[in-house]
Amino acid sequence: MTVTWEELGWERLAAGVGRCRLPGWDCTVGLVVGQGTALLIDAGSSLGEGARLRAQAEAFTGHRVTHLALTHPHFDHVFGAAAFAGAEVFGAVGIDTVFTARHAREGLRADAVRNGLEADSADEAMESLTPPRHHVSGEWTLDLGGGRQVLLANVGPGHTAHDLAVLVPGAPEVVFCGDLVEESGEPQAGPDAVPSHWPAALDRLLDLGGEDALYVPGHGAVVDAAFVRAQRDALATRFGVS
Ligand SMILES: [Zn+2]
Repeated sequence: MTVTWEELGWERLAAGVGRCRLPGWDCTVGLVVGQGTALLIDAGSSLGEGARLRAQAEAFTGHRVTHLALTHPHFDHVFGAAAFAGAEVFGAVGIDTVFTARHAREGLRADAVRNGLEADSADEAMESLTPPRHHVSGEWTLDLGGGRQVLLANVGPGHTAHDLAVLVPGAPEVVFCGDLVEESGEPQAGPDAVPSHWPAALDRLLDLGGEDALYVPGHGAVVDAAFVRAQRDALATRFGVS
């Protein structure tokens, strides 16, 4: 690598695996480096932010971002996606409806503006927003070359109807949880959440990652399995499901 994670304000999690906490909404973006490949996990909250992330990823790896996984269709995670032209884009099956159906698109834009994104940035992102090409139902093993394989897992619904987690084997194992897990505050359950299934989604995350993984929330500090289990139980109580 030509620069270190820390030099660009990223947090190194394992060999070739890091993440950045973005300004504004403290949204996490992950990066997994393969052999001539790079998987970015989520894309930032605007085209401008996406372009900055693209430049940083290229500085780390010396090549372009080849793969992009979107953990769920919320503006702070997907509005930068169009900055990664040519990348293979993955999302949980059904995510395309949020990107294409008029009612859902209007909801996505309104949520962004309500949360403080400038209207111009929201409009620009909406105009260029295109559905992921690859739709993950169940699990999808992605080979990034050089012996690096990651697992994309459709573990939802929960935070939304289209929640995708990314499991990166290694020592330690790293699980990118999207907003199924939040550390910096209560997990946010909006009108598109599926609360009755959320605890089961966290059970699946724990099955995938096990006791020793690093769990990377969509917002906040990296947590362990005990934290995820406690959040699972708190959500079950909050939503009245077992
Ligand atoms: Zn979200």
